[in-house]
Amino acid sequence: MQPYNWLETINVTEEMLNKTDHRLPIIWISALDCTGCKEAFTRSFEPSSLDAILNFISLEYSELLSVASGFQVEEHKETIFEKYKGQYVLAVEGGIPGSDEFLMIAGKSVREEIIQAAKNAKAVIAVGSCSAWGGITSAGSNPTNSVDLRTLIPDDIPVALVPGCPPIPEVIVGTFLHIHFHGELPELDKKLRPKAFYQTTVHMTCHRKPYFDQKLFAESYDDEGARKGYCLFKLGCKGPTAFNACESIVSERCISAGFTCIGCSEKNFWDKGSFCGKKKK
Ligand code: SF4
Ligand code: SF4
Repeated sequence: MQPYNWLETINVTEEMLNKTDHRLPIIWISALDCTGCKEAFTRSFEPSSLDAILNFISLEYSELLSVASGFQVEEHKETIFEKYKGQYVLAVEGGIPGSDEFLMIAGKSVREEIIQAAKNAKAVIAVGSCSAWGGITSAGSNPTNSVDLRTLIPDDIPVALVPGCPPIPEVIVGTFLHIHFHGELPELDKKLRPKAFYQTTVHMTCHRKPYFDQKLFAESYDDEGARKGYCLFKLGCKGPTAFNACESIVSERCISAGFTCIGCSEKNFWDKGSFCGKKKK
């Protein structure tokens, strides 16, 4: 496996790195989420979340991560909407409920707030599979009538989907930094995912693929094959159909931990997943 080089992945040169003189304002709105995506965001290693926040991005609003809370942070958010009109990035985490009875923040409709904030954003990022595809909130009978971000906001607004449950920390930060350094979203695939991170399946870069090619499989999680690190395909690994960069970015490897890929970056994975035991019709 090649070492992960974030500068190369998002086409940033050392010169660009040294010349940067402002930070990209980010408003992070949480809908029906578990906060796992925000937690992932704080755990990027290459570059570190700390470096990103101190040097390249300015996280102006997040219910979980902002130091201020209550009316102070809500007022600050409104200020940023005005001050950085057309310049801020809107990050949305979580599925968006079908009605306000399921979620309001500070007495305001989250649905309306996302629609309004998206209109004046430089770009909108659906962070995580809930926001990108509906995720767990729309799984099964979807009791909150949740929808994904793309369903909620008009087509002419630039949107990138960064799926994963949670997404890879470096992918979240890398997408923000691409906008910071290049002034626009990275190149996207047909499903609106940044190509740099979602162009191949987990399987194609998996460190266990040589075993797959030799038809050497673990038959159970505690057999000799599992101990030798054989391919986990027969245990239900979803790596062959999951588009994500887990096996090409060092810090993120369910498969290294000895567990199958569950395909968390794919649509409806909660209903199709190997751990869920239920298929969506
Ligand atoms: S995508 Fe996963 S980690 Fe993120 S909010 Fe949804 S359930 Fe939580
Ligand atoms: S463990 Fe999964 S992703 Fe890796 S080679 Fe086997 S089937 Fe492919």
